[in-house]
Amino acid sequence: MSAPDRLRIAGGTVYDPANGVDGEIRDVCIEGGRIVERLPADAPTLDAKGMVVMPGGVDIHAHFASSSCNHARRLAPDEHAADPAPAPALSEGEGPPRSGTGGTVPSTFTTGYRYAGLGYTTAFDAAVAPLTARHSHSELDDTPCVDGGIFVLMGNDEYLLRQIEAGERDRARDYAAWLLQATGAYAIKIVNPGGVEAWKTGQRNVSGLDDPIGGRSVTPRAILETLADAANALRLPHPVHIHCNNLGVAGNYATTLASMEALAGRRAHFTHIQFHSYGGGGGQPWSSAASRIIEYVNAHPEVSTDVGQVMFGPAMTITADAPVEYLLHKSSGRRWTNIDVELETGCGIVPLTYKDKAAVSALQWAIGLELFLLSTDPWRVVLSTDHPNGGSFLAYPALIELLMDRSVRDERLKQVNPKLLAGSALADGLAREYTLGEIAIITRAGPARLLGLTHKGHLGPGADADVTIYSRDPDIAKMFSTPRYVVKSGAVIVEEGQLRRAPAGRRLHVAPGYDQTVLRDLRRHFDRYSTVAFDNYPVRDVPGEPVAIA
Ligand SMILES: [Zn+2]
Repeated sequence: MSAPDRLRIAGGTVYDPANGVDGEIRDVCIEGGRIVERLPADAPTLDAKGMVVMPGGVDIHAHFASSSCNHARRLAPDEHAADPAPAPALSEGEGPPRSGTGGTVPSTFTTGYRYAGLGYTTAFDAAVAPLTARHSHSELDDTPCVDGGIFVLMGNDEYLLRQIEAGERDRARDYAAWLLQATGAYAIKIVNPGGVEAWKTGQRNVSGLDDPIGGRSVTPRAILETLADAANALRLPHPVHIHCNNLGVAGNYATTLASMEALAGRRAHFTHIQFHSYGGGGGQPWSSAASRIIEYVNAHPEVSTDVGQVMFGPAMTITADAPVEYLLHKSSGRRWTNIDVELETGCGIVPLTYKDKAAVSALQWAIGLELFLLSTDPWRVVLSTDHPNGGSFLAYPALIELLMDRSVRDERLKQVNPKLLAGSALADGLAREYTLGEIAIITRAGPARLLGLTHKGHLGPGADADVTIYSRDPDIAKMFSTPRYVVKSGAVIVEEGQLRRAPAGRRLHVAPGYDQTVLRDLRRHFDRYSTVAFDNYPVRDVPGEPVAIA
């Protein structure tokens, strides 16, 4: 079958929570790459009787297309030999198929193929240094099957810090708008606001939101406020995307709550909150503070989150939070690399294995599950493993199984190190089991809504025709790891579980309007401090039109 202009997915059990459809038998009609209301009776048909039909998966937070991922690939040659990825058997004329390598950070083409094989059709790389945006776009060009984009790192960049210090918050907003456009990015990402800059100047890190950074008058609180307000004033489809201070530190839940409270009433997305929900510290052992964090999230509709679940097995920690990676390298004894990106941000990478017999890993695993199971609004607590930081995206099906099947979860709980689980809600027994409808929310409808992608994550007329069709299986992990069919922009790319087509994905980026007088000041700053000429800095050839700003 060639990529059909029209296709009727007939008789499947449809989960389309954005349109209030929760397991109804109905047809999904596709024409010209979009979902349509109806089709002529003679339109080509794909028989989905007895199968589960959902929109294509949407990954709101992963690391797969960046200069830092490339450094991570170089750091783990042993993974490449252990997981070779032969070229897929694409249909005649659909090539050329590419071989590659897997492991925790697969090569570009393999990443696209594996996302498609999982039923995911949209993904964002959540941390790109502005100076390396061109590299990310080149990697996205070579990551087929998924539409996607990048979040650009701010919050430790010299120009922004200077504007905040000078009280020039309007100019900071205009700079943010310019930077989004110059890098072809989709959203603003903050990593450890001010903490990376502080560490680079010799300070250990920042501990509180009102700590001055590197001997200047800027504080994490001012960075959070400035960028959250900028994202909202620019009407970006996705609000500011925040990795809080003190990631991975015992007792950090207090910083996380303080950060949420600092932005109270403002739309903001707090990412991988599992890594920010730890009790203990100050001489006390690590403990779960998941309930403290999720209670706040449940009660504040302006806050959204993804979990950043830890899954047992190999992982690769990659983050702009270089001070965290330095500590991890010191405590684990594992190899690492550190990259300083001029005056923009930092980056550290450490390979890591989460072991169920290790007390802290077991606690992290439990905290992630508690956050999911205690959440009262699945639209605002969506699925991520912070791929590959908490585990590969290939672990999503196993995570879905843990959420849907209490008996599997309880069995697994018996095998983990219980040392730090006192007071954990999971250890006390959580009966909740996610339904298929809720899984459809946390893996596609919810992320799409949080990203402001009105054409994604649902199957209503006008939506992009990205559809995943699963064969029902009592083995939930198996069902979600091997979709029977995947449709991307109207083309059937996975047929009978085999990848047959690998079309290029669309680039998702924004171009908000701003007061251009900022450019004169920026040019002066570049002339004085940057190794790159101002005119050479912007990425000029970002494919596709920017996503419309409402
Ligand atoms: Zn991340």
